Amino acid sequence: MESLSEKISSGYRVTPQELLELSNGATLSELGALAHAVRLAKHPDTTVTFVVDRNINYTNVCTSECKFCAFYSRVGEDGGYVLSRESFRQKIEETLELGGTQILLQGGMNPALTLDWYVDLLRWLTTTFPIHVHGFSPPEISWLADQSQLSIAETVEKLKEAGLKSIPGGGAEILVDEVRRQVSPNKCGVDKWLEVMRQAHLAGMRSTATMMFGHLETPAQIVEHLTRIRDLQDETGGFTAFIPWTFQPTNTDLDVEKATADAYLRVLALSRIFLDNVDNIQASWVTQGEKIAQVALFFGANDMGSTMIEENVVSAAGVDHMLPKEELIRVVASAGFTPVQRDCFYNHLAVCA
Ligand code: SF4
Repeated sequence: MESLSEKISSGYRVTPQELLELSNGATLSELGALAHAVRLAKHPDTTVTFVVDRNINYTNVCTSECKFCAFYSRVGEDGGYVLSRESFRQKIEETLELGGTQILLQGGMNPALTLDWYVDLLRWLTTTFPIHVHGFSPPEISWLADQSQLSIAETVEKLKEAGLKSIPGGGAEILVDEVRRQVSPNKCGVDKWLEVMRQAHLAGMRSTATMMFGHLETPAQIVEHLTRIRDLQDETGGFTAFIPWTFQPTNTDLDVEKATADAYLRVLALSRIFLDNVDNIQASWVTQGEKIAQVALFFGANDMGSTMIEENVVSAAGVDHMLPKEELIRVVASAGFTPVQRDCFYNHLAVCA
């Protein structure tokens, strides 16, 4: 009888139970070999893509108080901010000068900001600058819908009409309510996270999906998360990429050990093996550093994410890996792959060899 590894190598769809068995029983090198074979079957040309963009965190004021977050300020606390238009202008002009093609807009759940504020901001951004706005993760959109007493579909439509082009998959953490109740009790639950993505995809927008692991979850809950993503992707086909990354515990309220590189690479490989309907899997150089990011390219990843001209959330948790575009190109090329700058939809813009 064919072994599971042989079946995976010839395109077999792994069941959640089989993935859990691999998670518990396979060695690191077995997982890497399997994930790399699946990656090469999907992307035989060994290019590794990246996007030049900037994270802009429009406000750090947040009522959600997630236990893993070192970024937010409470309402009224010193250090709370909402970015001015002038700050946006400076950041975006700098991004464009550096060859950037998009901004990633994310922020806290700030009760001072209404849906009209978001709509006005999007209209101004998209009529002033030639830049793609990738913004507002499902918890932000779900919260905005509640604040505005609109449905999620109506809220998504208003943001889209104002110029929003695609949605980042942030705020997923682990898509299991039992875990979310412990790490982010005030954020939207699993069904709402998925509903925002479903409505965005139905409205014609694409999005990414993420998973932040290495805190309170079990291996079975990681499998459950991946299953929810694969099921929604079967339904809508709207996810462009999956981005697993590890929780960074410094300056947070969660007292757990930082996940090892071994744990990261195992979950990355499992993601590539299981998510047969998601084309792109991103390496997280921001949390892992450039050396593990290079190894990640042999564990299923075919994308290096963003150059991140600016990043505030992970760096608030004490992680400060920065890679300018030229460095990112060097890192990819020296791992034996061809670096290619892409846009938000993974269209190739320039080969950077
Ligand atoms: Fe707020 Fe986001 Fe931080 Fe949670 S992770 S506290 S939602 S800013």
